[in-house]
Amino acid sequence: MDHHRFEVLTSSNSTLSALEIDYLRQQLNSRSQAIARLQNELKILQSECETYESLLSPLRRNAVPLEILGLIFTKAVLNSQNSLPSDEQVQRICLVCRGWRNAALATPAIWGQLELKGSPPVNFATIQRWLSRAGTLPRRLSIIDECSHEGIDEDHPTVCPWVEAGLPALLTEAPTPKELILILNEGQCLQHLLNAIQKLNFDERPDAWELWDSIQDLQFVANQWHDPSYSHCLHSDLLNCFSQESMSSLSVTLPSFLQIDHLSFPNLTELELALRRWPVKWVLDSLAESPALRYLTINL
Ligand SMILES: [Zn+2]
Repeated sequence: MDHHRFEVLTSSNSTLSALEIDYLRQQLNSRSQAIARLQNELKILQSECETYESLLSPLRRNAVPLEILGLIFTKAVLNSQNSLPSDEQVQRICLVCRGWRNAALATPAIWGQLELKGSPPVNFATIQRWLSRAGTLPRRLSIIDECSHEGIDEDHPTVCPWVEAGLPALLTEAPTPKELILILNEGQCLQHLLNAIQKLNFDERPDAWELWDSIQDLQFVANQWHDPSYSHCLHSDLLNCFSQESMSSLSVTLPSFLQIDHLSFPNLTELELALRRWPVKWVLDSLAESPALRYLTINL
């Protein structure tokens, strides 16, 4: 089709011959193919641009100072709504890349919280190394004891596996945790722990009891007493084994009331008691001995 005929067709309503129809269809087809080819090339170019842009991100160029990365990690780990424990979040951060690991290692704030769960054996040297990265910042240690403790009875009391595995040494190594969460299957385990720390104090570590005294915030949960009669063997001043001066926040959840002395913590500001029947006299005596108390929660 020559140019003149094409002009006539586009400026009039002239009908097309069979040859002209074929010709126009061929032209249309070749242009559609050209458009598809160009669109494909465009897509490839856009994808390449995105790859280059991501490679040039501030993190890849080391343009974000370690301190800023550390602040982001701290915000994410400490304020996260994430259901993962903070130590697992830290582990994941360290696995992203060498740069993130270096930034994490240079951020003491994210190493101060650790949750130990399950049952020994536990590598306490690794735990100690983890906590040492927190520098001088306050630490929070959670122990969730899931041992079965079979064999605990009054005549043949077995020592809690956590205590045997080295927990007393961990809890009395400087700097000691400021916040301690003890969620124990067996209430007697706390007594085992305190006995072991006292023994450390008398034997090779005269400073053990003093270091243990740094705990300011204690959450103690005992799920059960293996043998109710055994609980009578517990020291009556069980909770007062913690520092009277340091303790500022205490939460106690017991399966049944123990014959323990009332609390006497002059600097205690928060107290939470969870038990169906705390003896009223015990609670009143404890309140009288805790003049700084501001918040009292009793969960019935
Ligand atoms: Zn135990």
